[in-house]
Amino acid sequence: MRKKLAAGNWKMNGLAVSLSEVEALIAAHPNPACDVLLCPPATLVSAMAATAAGRISVGGQDCHMELTGAHTGDISAQMLADAGASHVIVGHSERRADHGESDAMIRAKAEAARAQGLVAVICIGETEAERDAGTTLEVIGRQLFGSTPDAATGVNTVIAYEPVWAIGTGRTPTLEQIAEVHDFMRSELNGRFGSEGAQIRLLYGGSVKPSNAAEIFATSNVDGALVGGASLKAADFGAIIGAL
Ligand code: PGA
Repeated sequence: MRKKLAAGNWKMNGLAVSLSEVEALIAAHPNPACDVLLCPPATLVSAMAATAAGRISVGGQDCHMELTGAHTGDISAQMLADAGASHVIVGHSERRADHGESDAMIRAKAEAARAQGLVAVICIGETEAERDAGTTLEVIGRQLFGSTPDAATGVNTVIAYEPVWAIGTGRTPTLEQIAEVHDFMRSELNGRFGSEGAQIRLLYGGSVKPSNAAEIFATSNVDGALVGGASLKAADFGAIIGAL
């Protein structure tokens, strides 16, 4: 059985004072039924890991594909691990758009994460134009194959399906549309990785909130959520954790 995962992506939000939300979250959910992960901005990884003290997992939001070197402003998987992270998001659509990240680059980042013992949370998702053109599964298939390393396992990899048009918009696909993509991803992973593919957790992301979390989590092959805006408040993220 795949254990459910509630993952929060704080994006470029949060200062040291925000860590009080983490304490509140942990206090309200001392024994969550699911795994809980928070990915703060890089400046907070170390402090959040100290606050969490192993009670929840902490991750970065991106890593470079190389370990060290002349890459001003970048952060390596080794640095995230050193700061106390156990996970890292790679290939978020905002990075694909803002930094021109390709599937090959994202795969290399996921490889770098694995080499440092980090779990890679690999994000994929279609744009609205791609969905309207009827190419969603084609895009998902291409990104899933291109961004996922050959050495992916249920231990070192999580996949997050995040339709670009659902992120931060308050709009979500229908449950049928989510099931269609998640069932497709599951069968693609089974085809590529055999029984190991069945262990890789599939998260849905894009405007998940307390009011829609339960029905999304009950959808076929949804093993949890990657939550942006609603992960910033302990009460909201706690309600989502409670729905898992
Ligand atoms: P959202 O973001 O929950 O604010 O839509 C999700 C994400 O980008 O991971």
